[in-house]
Amino acid sequence: MKYSVPARLLELEESATLKASEKANEMISKGIKVFKLDVGEPDFQTPKKIIDAAYNAMLKGFTHYAPSSGIPQLRQAIAEKYSVTQSNVMVTPGSKQGIFYALYSIINPGEEVLLLNPSWSSYKQIIKLSGGVPVEIDTDENFTPDIDLIKKKISKKTKAIIVNSPNNPTGAVYGNKTIKDLSQLAIENGLFIISDEIYDRLVYESEFVSFRKYMKYEDGLILVNGFSKAYAMTGWRLGYIITSPEIIKQMAKLQGHTATSPTTFAQVAAVTALKECEEDVRSMVDEFAERRKIIIEMLDKKGLKYVRPEGAFYFFIDLGNYIKNADPAEYLLEKAKVSVTSGLGFGDNYSSYVRISYATSRETIISGIENIFNAIGI
Ligand code: PLP
Repeated sequence: MKYSVPARLLELEESATLKASEKANEMISKGIKVFKLDVGEPDFQTPKKIIDAAYNAMLKGFTHYAPSSGIPQLRQAIAEKYSVTQSNVMVTPGSKQGIFYALYSIINPGEEVLLLNPSWSSYKQIIKLSGGVPVEIDTDENFTPDIDLIKKKISKKTKAIIVNSPNNPTGAVYGNKTIKDLSQLAIENGLFIISDEIYDRLVYESEFVSFRKYMKYEDGLILVNGFSKAYAMTGWRLGYIITSPEIIKQMAKLQGHTATSPTTFAQVAAVTALKECEEDVRSMVDEFAERRKIIIEMLDKKGLKYVRPEGAFYFFIDLGNYIKNADPAEYLLEKAKVSVTSGLGFGDNYSSYVRISYATSRETIISGIENIFNAIGI
């Protein structure tokens, strides 16, 4: 039988971040030394307390199906953190899956979702998978949302705005005014805000402002978070959504018929993450802060222009003055043996940019950045 790809999947693009990293891994497997500044996952081991908790949970029999919204202990721990009730909380296999459930639960086919570019590549694809139409809007020269421009893009079909602060790929952390203005805009126009706060613990200079400050869940706030970044738990696949109980109910239906639930013993261990691992998180954040400082010093010494990132673990840099007529990420992989992510993965207007991740060792960062400098002749 001849397989033909269904139309809805033909539209779906590969993950830009995973693709870049795969190419580098291929070179590494051939014995080539590559400095990997591409992936968006902490290089730290998951704190031992969390691993022990998962092991003990397995021994205690937490190896069966769990309720489709998550186990009560974890929902309760998350609810306490956010001062809500369990009915506002759903645990998902990674926040990425949570974003899919959320979009699928609010979008009718053809409705529009506003995306603030540069933006994490999966949003656009998840919107399309959910039957929605992504409407991409560039942020300003400091990677801050331009409220007037967003207003102009709101149509009768607009259903939601996805916001990600601290931001992947720019590291921008939106201040009070931006979050307040976006909240007001959403409330006035009856739009959902999907606030992806997965990097909320990784803030170095300014203060993290959550949409919780200016919106209620009943106003249409859908908050996304997870364990991957703050607790170095990317492989555990655990995230969560906080929103109104009526949306949670729809999402639970969706999860019940697809994943069933996230892995049960991983959920038990996540309670330990939330309740007992504050020191571990702090020490990881301190190390990220040091790495960020090292990169800032290196870039400033060379006089390279860039927008200073305040959070997450990325720098998003325009190399258009140095690399002409080539994708800068491909150029750097070939000439510098450094793997970074192409700006194109985050929006069509960022082809001259690269995303540099510092979720890797200081040695790799320093050697990688030196190699980049050599390859671009500065
Ligand atoms: N949201 C953003 C902005 C991300 O950068 C990532 C991962 O790179 C995710 C969500 C996905 O995280 P999770 O591992 O919880 O699915």
